Amino acid sequence: MDEDLATSTDGGFAGLGLRPELLRALSDLGYEEPTPIQREAIAPLIAGHDLVGQAATGTGKTAAFALPLLQSLTTGGTSPAALVLVPTRELAEQVSQAVHRYGRDLNVRVLPVYGGQPISRQLQVLRRGVDVVVGTPGRILDHIERETLQLDAVRTVVLDEADEMLDMGFAEDIEAILAETPAERQTVLFSATMPPRIDAIARRHLRDPLRIRMGKDTSAADGLPTVRQSAYLVARAHKTAALGRVLDVEAPTAAIVFCRTREEVDEVTESLNGRGYRAEALHGGLSQDQRDRVMGRLRGGATELLVATDVAARGLDVEQLTHVINYNVPSAPEAYVHRIGRVGRAGRTGAAITLAEPREQRMLKAIERLTGQRIALEKLPTVTDLRARRLEVVRTTVQEALTAEDLERFRAVLDSLTDESDIELVALAALKLLHEANGGDVDEAEIPTISPVRERDERGRPAGGPGTGPRRGRADGGAVTRVFVGLGRRAGVRPQDLVGAIAGEAGLSARDVGAIQITDRFSLVEVPEAEAEKVIRALSHSTIRGRRPTVRRDRPN
Ligand code: AMP
Repeated sequence: MDEDLATSTDGGFAGLGLRPELLRALSDLGYEEPTPIQREAIAPLIAGHDLVGQAATGTGKTAAFALPLLQSLTTGGTSPAALVLVPTRELAEQVSQAVHRYGRDLNVRVLPVYGGQPISRQLQVLRRGVDVVVGTPGRILDHIERETLQLDAVRTVVLDEADEMLDMGFAEDIEAILAETPAERQTVLFSATMPPRIDAIARRHLRDPLRIRMGKDTSAADGLPTVRQSAYLVARAHKTAALGRVLDVEAPTAAIVFCRTREEVDEVTESLNGRGYRAEALHGGLSQDQRDRVMGRLRGGATELLVATDVAARGLDVEQLTHVINYNVPSAPEAYVHRIGRVGRAGRTGAAITLAEPREQRMLKAIERLTGQRIALEKLPTVTDLRARRLEVVRTTVQEALTAEDLERFRAVLDSLTDESDIELVALAALKLLHEANGGDVDEAEIPTISPVRERDERGRPAGGPGTGPRRGRADGGAVTRVFVGLGRRAGVRPQDLVGAIAGEAGLSARDVGAIQITDRFSLVEVPEAEAEKVIRALSHSTIRGRRPTVRRDRPN
C-alpha cells in the first residue's frame, strides 16, 4: 500500500505539527488532507492564540478546534481542562463524538451535557472526572449552580456556532459561564456569521484574537464551466438512498461521486454496487497502479461511476464525464469549483449535483456567492417518479431494439407462443421480463422531504426569529400546541429565556417556537404539536432563570 497521504505529504496534517496519536486517528478515519479552515486555524491554536473563525457547518470547523485542544490536553484531572459551548443537544453529541474519535489514542474522557437527558447520569460521570465537557449553556450553568461542575482547571474554552447561541438567547448564560473560567484561558470562537453582537463578545472575552474567514478568495471562480447545478436537501440517514435515486433518474454515462473520507468512499461504493451500478472506489489508500487500472476501466466504459476523495481525484481528467456528484457539500467553496470544473468541458453538457444536509445550506449559499451562479434546490425523485423512470427505460430500450438486424431469429419462438396466446399478451410478458431484468419494481420507502431554511437577515439572525421584534405564530401554518410554563415576569422570565431553553434543551430550532405570552406568574409558549411532548419533558428537567418550572400542556379555554 502507498505511504499514507495524510501523514506523508507537506499539505497533510503532519505539516501542521499534530502529535502522532492524532495523526493516526485521522488517518484511520480516512481524512486525507486538512480542509482550508483546518489549514489556517490548527497551527495558531496549538501555539496558544485566541481565535475568531467565521466558518459554517461542513467546513471541518469541529476538527479545526478539537485537534489543537487535544494536542495539549492534560488528561486525568478531576475537573475538565476544556469546555466547548454549543447551541443544541444535537451539536453537543456530534462534537463530543468527534473529540472522542480524534482523541481515541489519548484516553480522553469527553462528556456531552445537555438538557432533556437525566441529570443523574451526567452527575455520575462528572464525579468520576472528565477532561472535555461539551454542552449547551443552559445545562452547563445548571451544573455550575449545583456545584457539580468546576471550571477552574479549564485551559481552553470554545464557543461553537456562537451566532446560533445568541439567537437562542444564551448571551447572559455564556457571560456567566465565562466568568467561572480562569482569565488566562485560551478562547476560541466559531460563528457562521459575524453580526456586531458576536464582535462585541470577541472584544470582551478574547485576547488579541487571530481572525480567520473562509470563502474570501474569489479567484477560483474564474473560467467556470456552464453546467447544470442543483442540490437536494437530505437528512444524513437517507443519503445513500437519495444518491441511488438521483443516479437512477439522471442515468449518467460516466460520473464521479465525491466523498469526504476513505470510509465514506468505501460505504458509498458498496451501496451503489448493491443497487446494480458498476461503481469503483478511488482514494489515497490505493497504489498508483490500482488507481491507473480504475481510471482505465472508467475510460473504457467498464465502470460508470467513480467514487472518490478530492485528493485521489486530483489531476484526473476524463473526457466522457457527464456528472459530478457531491455526496456532501464540499468543505470549501473553492473545492466545489475545482470539482465541477471536471464536467462540461469544451462545450459539452454536464451536471453538478450536491446532496446537502439541512445544516449545510449555508455552505451552498457561500458557493453561490463565490461562483455568482445559482444552485437550484430540487425535490428528490419520489417512488412514483422512479417507477415512471424505470418503465420509460423499458420503453426506450425496446424502441431502440425494434431497428436491430437480428430480430428474425426469434420468429420461430414468437410463432410458437402466438399459437397458444394472443400476441399482445406475449409482448406484455416480454416487457415485464425486461423490466425485471433491469431491477424491477421500486421497493423503497419514500425519503422525507425537507424544506429549505428561511434566509437570514443581514445581521445573521433568522428572519422573524428571536430579537426581531414581537414574535408571531409559525409562518408555515403547521399544528401548534400551547405549553404552560409556571414562571413569569416575577421570576424575571424574558422571551429569550424561553426560546433559549426550548431550543437548547429540547433540541428544537429557535424558528420552531411560535407566539410567547408572559404574564406575572406564568408564560405560554406555542410549539409544534409534534414536538410538544419533547418540549414539556425537556423543560420540566431544566432551570429557567435559576428555577425549575412546572410545565404542561395549556388547558383549552
Ligand atoms: P464540520 O464542519 O466540523 O461539521 O465537519 C463536517 C464533516 O467533515 C464531518 O463529517 C467531519 O467528519 C468531516 N471532516 C472534517 N475534516 C475533514 C478532513 N480533513 N477530511 C475529510 N473529512 C473531514
